[in-house]
Amino acid sequence: MEKIAHYIGGARVDTKSGRYADVFNPAQGVPVAQVALGTADEVDAAVQAGVAAFPAWSNTPPLTRARVLFRFLHLIQQRADDFARIIVREHGKTFSDAQGEVARGIEIVEFAAGIPQMLKGEYTDQIARGIDAWSMRQALGVVAGITPFNFPAMVPMWMFPIAIACGNCFVLKPSERDPSAALLIADLLQEAGLPDGVFNVIQGDKVTVDALLDHPQVKAISFVGSTPIAEYIYARGSAKGKRVQALGGAKNHMVVMPDADMQLAVDALMGAAYGSAGERCMAISVAVAVGSAGDELVAALAERARKLKINEGMAAGAEMGPVVTAAAKERIESLIGRGVEEGATLVVDGRGYQVPGFEKGFFVGGTLLDHVTPEMTVYKEEIFGPVLCVLRCPDIASAVELINAHEYGNGVAVYTRDGGVAREFVRQIEVGMVGVNVPLPVPMAFSSFGGWKRSLFGDHHMYGPEGVRFYTRAKAVMQRWPNTASAGAEFAFPQMK
Ligand code: NAD
Repeated sequence: MEKIAHYIGGARVDTKSGRYADVFNPAQGVPVAQVALGTADEVDAAVQAGVAAFPAWSNTPPLTRARVLFRFLHLIQQRADDFARIIVREHGKTFSDAQGEVARGIEIVEFAAGIPQMLKGEYTDQIARGIDAWSMRQALGVVAGITPFNFPAMVPMWMFPIAIACGNCFVLKPSERDPSAALLIADLLQEAGLPDGVFNVIQGDKVTVDALLDHPQVKAISFVGSTPIAEYIYARGSAKGKRVQALGGAKNHMVVMPDADMQLAVDALMGAAYGSAGERCMAISVAVAVGSAGDELVAALAERARKLKINEGMAAGAEMGPVVTAAAKERIESLIGRGVEEGATLVVDGRGYQVPGFEKGFFVGGTLLDHVTPEMTVYKEEIFGPVLCVLRCPDIASAVELINAHEYGNGVAVYTRDGGVAREFVRQIEVGMVGVNVPLPVPMAFSSFGGWKRSLFGDHHMYGPEGVRFYTRAKAVMQRWPNTASAGAEFAFPQMK
């Protein structure tokens, strides 16, 4: 069976540990490769490759670094469909969805290619007589990214283009469920002329992650994944003195007001709840029907959810593929059962879904639960599958109160024709990314991405200007030259003169 290796110092390196994990094709439900699980020594080798490359790379002029990213951008655009095919094979999402993922990742590379503009410091002439001050931002050293299965190309691209454009060296630990996209990224970066050691891939699991968290020469950790692991990464990484940005799970609500364009709202909910089989951190998993909106909304959703085109990701017209593993399918199906036990109305049941020709695949059909309440497990937990819960609220104030009480605060949307309602919603909601008649308000590359509450640990959002700040540290400089310096020692605290 194909072995998926590390990429260290510009070369593929297999593990010496003998530890491997199976990588499945989720539509077929069978293993298609084995991925190496890195040891602490292998992590150290990847970090040392970065340490060795750092002096030359961080001293390379920003525009020269940006030119490598321009070449990489060109290559990744040419190979975008190859990425999408790899993603479909190991993740299971549909080909068009995978193409969308790659396109959104490319936007971050485009942003990072403009890094000289972002790295300009600030200068103040004459802050005191004969003294000028400026600030500059410098690279940190070796930084690491630990990424989830659900966006095997895009989420790494939230991190490394900015990190390396800023002059850092990068160690990527991709998800062990779909590790191949990371190696194609490595190959294209090499082809683009990136010096060996600036970008490394260490495959692995918890053992590998812990070695990165504890490594004294890893200066910063970017993490995207589930909340319990994000919290752990934040605690352990920051206890070791590293910068950490750890993005976690979500429970994203969409409020549908009675005056909303119902057709638009239903279309938006179908794509946002069931696209990528609900395995998106910005997926809408809760619809909050306000006032009289509920019955019409549920009826329309039920009709559409029953007709979802579920198939293997490369099949023409497929709207939704399988979920990622057999364990994920089992967990999602058991949560649906829990919802019923706890009193929700099961309007559309996706359990036991079978796709002809792919009987072993990890498919779950689109599921719709109505009359869900805040006490139910299906409301409290992130299901991360094609399950949409509908809650009813009497008015917008109670909808806002409901959403603000949830532990997660990643994304949210409101559908209404009333500008005043939308404006107040935007101002009062305690969620990091808000859409007004937009279901998945994922910020563009030149803004930054991040949730609130237990959807993000740390204080920097990902990519955009916050990404540049995360991957650089500020230095403040004051200078004067001998001809402007007054003679004699001064013992009082310096003041402007
Ligand atoms: P996960 O937390 O299981 O894994 C994420 C990464 O952490 C992987 O690389 C994995 O190998 C590693 N990991 C897993 N268990 C670990 C442990 N015990 N110790 C150390 N490292 C460990 O997440 P996942 O299932 O791959 O991805 C889905 C989750 O990611 C969902 O909760 C989703 O909401 C979240 N997510 C969040 C965002 C966001 O921007 N907030 C984006 C995408 C995904």
